[in-house]
Amino acid sequence: MSLIVQKFGGSSVSDAEGIKRVARRIMDTKAAGNDVVVVVSAMGDTTDELLDLAGQLTDDPPAREMDMLLSAGERMSMALLAMTIDGAGEKAVSFTGSQAGMMTDAVHGKARIIDVSPQRVRQAVDRGYVAIVAGFQGMSPDSNDVTTMGRGGSDTTAVALAAALNADVCEIYTDVDGVYTADPRIVSAAQKIDTISSEEMLELAASGAKILHLRCVEYARRFGVPLHVRSSFSEHEGTWVLPSEDDKIKIQEGEPLEQPIISGVAHDRSEAKVTVVGVPDVPGKAAEIFGVIAGAHSNIDMIVQNVSTAGKDKTDISFTLPIVEGKEALDALRDAQSRVGFEAIEYDDQVGKLSLIGAGMRSNPGVSYKFFQALHEAGVNVDMISTSEIRISVVTHADKLDDAVRAVHAVFGLDTDVEATVYGGTGR
Ligand code: ADP
Ligand code: ASP
Ligand code: MG
Repeated sequence: MSLIVQKFGGSSVSDAEGIKRVARRIMDTKAAGNDVVVVVSAMGDTTDELLDLAGQLTDDPPAREMDMLLSAGERMSMALLAMTIDGAGEKAVSFTGSQAGMMTDAVHGKARIIDVSPQRVRQAVDRGYVAIVAGFQGMSPDSNDVTTMGRGGSDTTAVALAAALNADVCEIYTDVDGVYTADPRIVSAAQKIDTISSEEMLELAASGAKILHLRCVEYARRFGVPLHVRSSFSEHEGTWVLPSEDDKIKIQEGEPLEQPIISGVAHDRSEAKVTVVGVPDVPGKAAEIFGVIAGAHSNIDMIVQNVSTAGKDKTDISFTLPIVEGKEALDALRDAQSRVGFEAIEYDDQVGKLSLIGAGMRSNPGVSYKFFQALHEAGVNVDMISTSEIRISVVTHADKLDDAVRAVHAVFGLDTDVEATVYGGTGR
């Protein structure tokens, strides 16, 4: 008998029909002789709607209350799913994050898991129940408060439970058939990837491909949890994320023996660009600026330093950070302006990041040339550049991002004739 953790995202449970479809899928898995633990997200765009609602009431909601609010979305869907399964004659019981033993630190909105003790989940499964756990939430044993783990965090709940319960596989059910070479909502010619190394999946997720939460990929790699990303709307085999580098990709007959140079293109609209203008060009100033940003708990991504338009002996420092962290970072910088001695701050949230990812880049020269040539031909102006061994990223104007993704996808020969299916969701 296998233990399977199945995670269903918001688009899979967006209405009563969706919840019934998911319930049937879970019951089929159970009927096939498996134990099933389910992790569920909030219905449809509930989390965004709750955020909008809070925004209509206050500019600055307390982080604790925000977590109380957002965690309610997952509680609704877990209870609805449990009663649907119960109504169909199978035993099911739902648990909040804290009841399922998801212990986190006390950082509201982006809490990190410190311990997982799913005794109640284990007992329920042993007694023949389908255990349904609310995704993306936990509890801090320090503050005794409910926490949430950041947008898309239900994937991480699922993998953390799979690791703690020693599950055979963690299945992530969503609204597309797996991980594609680009977001199928933007590139209809994108191809489904059958197997991907966790190294490449990490880069894709870190570059904004929201199909998997970055921390879920890290967690799965660390604990060796096999991940299978697939659609809850079809029976198709999805994408397997190979848990460790030791797992060799199985080569099918007729396939080339070398790994493909490029595994995919990712994009990200969730970041903003900050430019600190006219920074005195003396040692220590960059450290002061990034010290201020670190104090505001912001995660910086790309950094560029340029000769300043403000004159000689000055420099401009630009960096990107998540839009949701923009306000706090800007407030902190403004407070530090006279001490650090820079002249102005510019903020631009109409930017997009595009990343090209592929482990084969390491040993194939000419990838950058082809990449920048494609952007040039598509009329895309590049604002910032960063690279790793297996990734090239650029920041462009947000309006140009979709064209840029399609141009790069095509130039590396990733386009296929079969149109990718998007079964649901609003892409929000
Ligand atoms: P869920 O609600 O199931 O968690 P998400 O909306 O978080 O689903 O993630 C699924 C979406 O991720 C897809 O609908 C697709 O638009 C987007 N996506 C972005 N990049 C990719 C990619 N490389 N492959 C597949 N889907 C992607
Ligand atoms: N409901 C949360 C969100 O929309 C968590 C998740 O879906 O994974 O971000
Ligand atoms: Mg998601």
